[in-house]
Amino acid sequence: MFDVIVVGAGPGGSIASKTCAEMGLDVLMVEKRQEIGVPVRCAEGISKDALERFVKPKRSFISREVVGAKIFAPDGTEIVLSEERAGNEVGYVLERKIFDRYLAKLASDAGAEVLVKTTAVSFEKKDDRVRVRLLRMGEEWDVETKIVIGADGVESRVAKFFGIDTTLKLNEVESCVQYLMTNIDFDPDYCHFWLGKSIAPGGYVWLFPKRIGANVGIGVMPSLAKKTPKEYLDDFVSKKFSDGKVVEFVAGAVPVCGEIETAVSDNVMLVGDAARHADPITGGGIANAMKAGYYAGIVAFEAVKRGDFSARFLRRYDKLWKDDFGRNLARKRRLQQKLIDMDDDTLNRIFHSIPRNIGELSVRAIVLEIFKRNPKLLWDVKDFIF
Ligand SMILES: Cc1cc2nc3c(=O)[nH]c(=O)nc-3n(C[C@H](O)[C@H](O)[C@H](O)COP(=O)(O)OP(=O)(O)OC[C@H]3O[C@@H](n4cnc5c(N)ncnc54)[C@H](O)[C@@H]3O)c2cc1C
Repeated sequence: MFDVIVVGAGPGGSIASKTCAEMGLDVLMVEKRQEIGVPVRCAEGISKDALERFVKPKRSFISREVVGAKIFAPDGTEIVLSEERAGNEVGYVLERKIFDRYLAKLASDAGAEVLVKTTAVSFEKKDDRVRVRLLRMGEEWDVETKIVIGADGVESRVAKFFGIDTTLKLNEVESCVQYLMTNIDFDPDYCHFWLGKSIAPGGYVWLFPKRIGANVGIGVMPSLAKKTPKEYLDDFVSKKFSDGKVVEFVAGAVPVCGEIETAVSDNVMLVGDAARHADPITGGGIANAMKAGYYAGIVAFEAVKRGDFSARFLRRYDKLWKDDFGRNLARKRRLQQKLIDMDDDTLNRIFHSIPRNIGELSVRAIVLEIFKRNPKLLWDVKDFIF
């Protein structure tokens, strides 16, 4: 019998477990993989602020520090943004194989029980508790809990079991592939992004520098793509990094549907990708998963103290994540839909009109400048920016 069972030991699950355990709850975190953090399905970028809100950076899990982002229009026009202005994914490039384990260790040090190679296979409501069936190396057993925190990623089983609607349509997901590449030439102080319908319809190509080589990947929206994401990436790589060597391959999906109505049900809270907390424009989800894990932990503690695990009570968790970043997800989703409609020529023209001394300006000032020069172009998106 536990107070809380956390399903999934990604960043969301580990921060939730750590928060619950630090407040004295009995916590079990289960992870279906045999090694936490492997295989990595991530470009591993996170802003310094977002990371440092939860952990002190350590050399062991910081693969590289960058000073900003270089963003390329379809015709190759480049703009450079400083790290503080480049969003939630630029600042550190992590070594997630180590980072995810480090977070799980923090949870364990705080008192959470952590089981790897253990899958939560089914859930059954029993009075005001939940019976969770666990499977490990052919052996099945049941545990009971007051609260389930579903941190089980984009394919969340917890959401389905408890009837929380997180269904994704083809235009609400980015389909991604990524290579870890060596033998390529790039500026290691910057994360790089290439935009354009012909390069990555509904998404972008990225390059995130690592201690050795770089993560070079692509996200495309299946509803717009005419080829597989790997075919788009191979086209790009063959033109840009023809001598590059691929030493690792990753494929995965990122939810980009924006804010969902609720991430709770009786006895259950969803965090991170399970709750579709990733940024609809960038696809970044580590920062929000950690924030959501923290908020779910706080509300789990209050619920246990009160003995109230109803959805009505757990909606406090919805309020916390929505007030922090939920509305931003909704805004970004609307902006994403406008950007998707933009053709490559329009995007090029916007890039051409961005002032050269961009590093000295705030994002607001840059947008005002573009808007001044292209009132028609930006009329559509002004509501999301100002
Ligand atoms: C190619 C790619 C690149 C990305 N790049 C970035 C980036 O640069 N920056 C960024 O911020 N985000 C990035 N993301 C998104 C980021 O990886 C996710 O948003 C983040 O990992 C979400 O964390 P999470 O804790 O919610 O879930 P996850 O990290 O997905 O963890 C979920 C865990 O639950 C486990 N699990 C699932 N089901 C069960 C079960 N039934 N029982 C037990 N365990 C279970 C899984 O094995 C997994 O370990 C990228 C994603 C992809 C696919």
